[in-house]
Amino acid sequence: MSNSALMQRDLKVLWHPCTQMKDHETLPLIPIRRGEGVWLEDFDGKRYIDAISSWWVNLFGHANPRINAAVKAQLDTLEHVLLAGFSHEPAIRLTEQLVQLTPAGLERCFFADNGSSAVEVALKMSFHYWRNRGRSKKTRFITLTNSYHGETLATLAVGDVALYKETYEPLLMKAITVPSPDCFLREEGESWADHSRKMFAHMERALAENADEVCAVIVEPLVQCAGNMRMFHPLYLELLRDACDRYGVHLIADEIAVGFGRTGTLFACEQAGISPDFMCLSKGLTGGYLPLSLTLTHELIYQAFYDDYEKLTAFLHSHSYTGNPLGCAAALATLEIFASDNVIERNRTTARQMGEAVTHLEQHPHVAEVRQTGMILAIEMIQDKASRTPYPWQERRGLRVYRHALEKGALLRPLGNVIYFMPPYVIEEEQIRQLALIATEGIELATRTD
Ligand code: PMP
Repeated sequence: MSNSALMQRDLKVLWHPCTQMKDHETLPLIPIRRGEGVWLEDFDGKRYIDAISSWWVNLFGHANPRINAAVKAQLDTLEHVLLAGFSHEPAIRLTEQLVQLTPAGLERCFFADNGSSAVEVALKMSFHYWRNRGRSKKTRFITLTNSYHGETLATLAVGDVALYKETYEPLLMKAITVPSPDCFLREEGESWADHSRKMFAHMERALAENADEVCAVIVEPLVQCAGNMRMFHPLYLELLRDACDRYGVHLIADEIAVGFGRTGTLFACEQAGISPDFMCLSKGLTGGYLPLSLTLTHELIYQAFYDDYEKLTAFLHSHSYTGNPLGCAAALATLEIFASDNVIERNRTTARQMGEAVTHLEQHPHVAEVRQTGMILAIEMIQDKASRTPYPWQERRGLRVYRHALEKGALLRPLGNVIYFMPPYVIEEEQIRQLALIATEGIELATRTD
């Protein structure tokens, strides 16, 4: 079986996510035969470093022996059971541990099976909490420009990436959208903290004007990942927590992409010393193995739903694969690795190596910025550095980097003109150097004037 034979079969029947399928008339589709550590191997035997952790899910490498063993053992015991009226030990153990590991006060865990659904749960729960408390005028959500929370209709509505959202606008509820503290947009010489503090004025105003109608503010703590890996200072989260309390509005932290060590701490909220009212987790939760997600919240919120059945205050949301035991087993094995391997500490060294490997790009005439938060590193290509004029999106410069990287044995999948590394934590220094070289060559090629 070869790549091209499989590609032909694939393109007859599959419709791929986030893809203009016509691109595959010229762009190779890569069928993967196996994975090991940071490596993916295709059917022609070519290997690729998975620099983006397969859409930010993988933490400890592909086919990790410890997670494999846990999933295999669970498979022989119980593959799945519904979670209404029934329970199972992996779900109980996992949520007990997460209550301990997440910021203080998050004591109730509601399962779903993908990130968007976890966000939907948080939005519905927040709205429903206020309704159960007699505050039925609260129906709206505040979000930041350039944010991303998933692709179902409600999560698109509270997101702000035009590429995914614009087409569906007529179908979406109207969110209140406040300028992001995105530090790429700070003035020259301004610090991340100063910019983030300054931008908070917009949020303060939106809350002051709308709090009576607002259920919650939703935010991706520290890094707006799908929004081109734009970053901001933890101070913004501190100010936001305080303001949400003052105005009687919930705070939803979407840690689906940034959770589980990506930003340098187990959860990004830790860097601001805050605890949200809802925290959404998925992706790294299972070490990148299986679809599983969780929405954590306070006991206070849980209690607003807890009453006699006839009062009709219960949260009746459900998904068939809620709390799947195989996913829970993978998640437990993932937490076990965090506990035994000093991962956050080791990642500090890895993050430093990533930063050092690309510092030379800061001087590149077509690189506007190299930015980093923990294990997320982004390089922003730009047409004109002085005036900060971006390349026209139609030129698809990032795609040129993608093609070059594939040729050279790396899966780098830029977001627009932003090339980023968000690798499995098991990446080694030599592989980081290789990625840096490939990215540098790719940027050279992609920014050549033609
Ligand atoms: N929130 C954030 C911050 C995300 O990055 C993503 C996925 N990229 C989601 C929500 C949606 O998760 P899923 O793709 O599992 O629906």
